[in-house]
Amino acid sequence: MIGKTLNGIIAEGAVVRGLIVAARAGGFDPNRWNRFERIAPEERERRTMQRIRRLVGNAVSRSSHHRSRLGIGPSDVGDLRTFDDFRRLPFLAKSELRRGGPEVLALMQPRLARTATTSGSTGVPVCVVHDLSYWSASIARRSMLFARHGVRFGSREARFWGRDDTERRSVQDVVGNRRFFGIGTGTDEALSSSLERLRGFVPDYAYGYPSVLLRFAEHARREGGALPAVGAVIRTAEGVTPEQERVLRETFDAPLVNEYGCSEVEIIAFDCEDGACHVDTDHIHLEVVESETGALEAVVTDLDNATMPILRYRLGDDIRLSEGKCTCGRTSPVIASVEGRSADRLLQMPDGSRRHSVVFSRIFARLDIEGFGVTRFRVVQTAPERLEIFVEGLRGDFDAFDRRLREAVEEEVSADFEVRVQRGPLPTNAGGKHRYFVPLESNHQEMP
Ligand SMILES: [Zn+2]
Repeated sequence: MIGKTLNGIIAEGAVVRGLIVAARAGGFDPNRWNRFERIAPEERERRTMQRIRRLVGNAVSRSSHHRSRLGIGPSDVGDLRTFDDFRRLPFLAKSELRRGGPEVLALMQPRLARTATTSGSTGVPVCVVHDLSYWSASIARRSMLFARHGVRFGSREARFWGRDDTERRSVQDVVGNRRFFGIGTGTDEALSSSLERLRGFVPDYAYGYPSVLLRFAEHARREGGALPAVGAVIRTAEGVTPEQERVLRETFDAPLVNEYGCSEVEIIAFDCEDGACHVDTDHIHLEVVESETGALEAVVTDLDNATMPILRYRLGDDIRLSEGKCTCGRTSPVIASVEGRSADRLLQMPDGSRRHSVVFSRIFARLDIEGFGVTRFRVVQTAPERLEIFVEGLRGDFDAFDRRLREAVEEEVSADFEVRVQRGPLPTNAGGKHRYFVPLESNHQEMP
């Protein structure tokens, strides 16, 4: 505690209170929430629009900046009756959030708040203010979503992250019973020592980036040792291929649960007991809109952030919704797939046109069905007519795989690319997160 400001101590005390409130779900009625997940879509639209009107009304009556950016005044708010009405309001772009930040977009600066920052593809952080009630509600919501998979508040969490927790642990880490496990320098020794620490911790569940979880899984397999038994593996932030999913399920010997979210708005969607990734409609209003590149892009409105309105925020994720009803009985929409950040995922075609790199994800998914599974891959466009494809953990014969992959690229992408396929470790990626495609413009900084 030495060297801490008084403010910091007050803030941490308030966080503990928030966590206790959240843990007991005081002021956050799980029955109301459970009912909301199962109401008719028309009723959901009516209730969601009520909350959106309140958010928009608050924003335009308190801030001239929001009035001018939304192009409406307090007297127009009553006209927002349906989702279609709401769709007429402008998007909030990442660049606008970056430029304006909390100084311009927040309606107030609460004393006890935290700023969620994220560095997207550009590496420039975006800041969003979450006040204390937002934060404790988000902890309560998170623990209720996790409870779908038998994870209780306070269960021991092994977090597979970009860092270890050898540094000072926060109050939230201590109360949340959470330990961090990173790959360190990435050497076998570093992984072995993290793995030993993990076995000593005896976690109830695992949570983290698939790329880090996969490194642990692969290392444990090579060492011949088992990973500690966990009740569930919750993956976040990155997509997985069918082969990676198989490796994670098999090595951890536990159900693999998908969380979809971002630090700006927290959890957007979460797997149900039947494995469908439902939008958390009590917290997020999700729209799917067609972007300039023809991709279907996720646009989110945070229904809980009254401090800094996040309305129609363009995430840059290419998203697909499922048709039909889920067997679990929830009526909220289900996300079928999320494909990376569309903004930095464009392939430059030899004829000068552009194409979304998601095509490679589909090619690898098909090759997987044909029996050529890989645990990780990365496609690097090194020249306008050249692609370098790196693969790790190939199942099957390399020469046959090499031939099939070239054929698939020729058929599905273009016959004008010179393709080189290489087995072995993927080149390091400066962004930290695992990206399977490195576009032409950025690979000079990304390649070692
Ligand atoms: Zn479901």
